[in-house]
Amino acid sequence: MVKKAVLFDLDNTLYDYEGPHAKALKAVYDILSKKINISFIKFKELYKMSKIEIHRELSGLASSHNRVLYFQRLIEKTHNTVDPSLILKLYSTYWDTLLKNMELGKGVLETLKELKKRNLKIAIVSDLTTHIQLRKIHQLGITKYIDFLVTSEEAGSEKPHAIMFLLALNKLDVSWHDAIFVGDNTINDIEGANSVRMDTVLIKKGSLAKESNEDYQKPNFVIKNIPEVLNILKGLDN
Ligand SMILES: [Mg+2]
Repeated sequence: MVKKAVLFDLDNTLYDYEGPHAKALKAVYDILSKKINISFIKFKELYKMSKIEIHRELSGLASSHNRVLYFQRLIEKTHNTVDPSLILKLYSTYWDTLLKNMELGKGVLETLKELKKRNLKIAIVSDLTTHIQLRKIHQLGITKYIDFLVTSEEAGSEKPHAIMFLLALNKLDVSWHDAIFVGDNTINDIEGANSVRMDTVLIKKGSLAKESNEDYQKPNFVIKNIPEVLNILKGLDN
């Protein structure tokens, strides 16, 4: 069957997240360590703890990823009060640094161009807040190739909830059998897209792309680089 649309996860699928994230955290630490005496190890420990707490309290919601909440919680731990200007400074530094350091994955731009040449529609389906994901799409320079964005903030639930995938199909005006989903997370991306019967492609990039013995978590295809999607589509066309 000839596919009409490709749905992509964004973070760690179209660009590598870990490097830019590490640089962003370091930039945040550099600001904080000028204000208070704190080691980088202690800072990372407090950041991790803050993130765990916010995730626990906002599980399933886009706001569970909101760095402003992480930094608010972190400053409560270090300063025992709210400090709006410092929290906002850490927040803007984190994203400004991460965005500046993002790089499109190998062959991603060429793949998006080729998909458009073949008249396929493209959507990004992502667990995070819309404001930040819009900034990423803009910064990565892929705006003209992306037809639609669906975030968990607008959907009200996070992947693997079916609403994330159904909302994207609805925006693209295609059916599940017209589309494939490409992502790096076995549960959020593959299980979620499988649940609405889409063909699924797992890009093996990190610890979240783990093998599963469960049929409902198995991708139809496993790839290492995004351009392999083009060959998969050709194969499915025949
Ligand atoms: Mg991802």
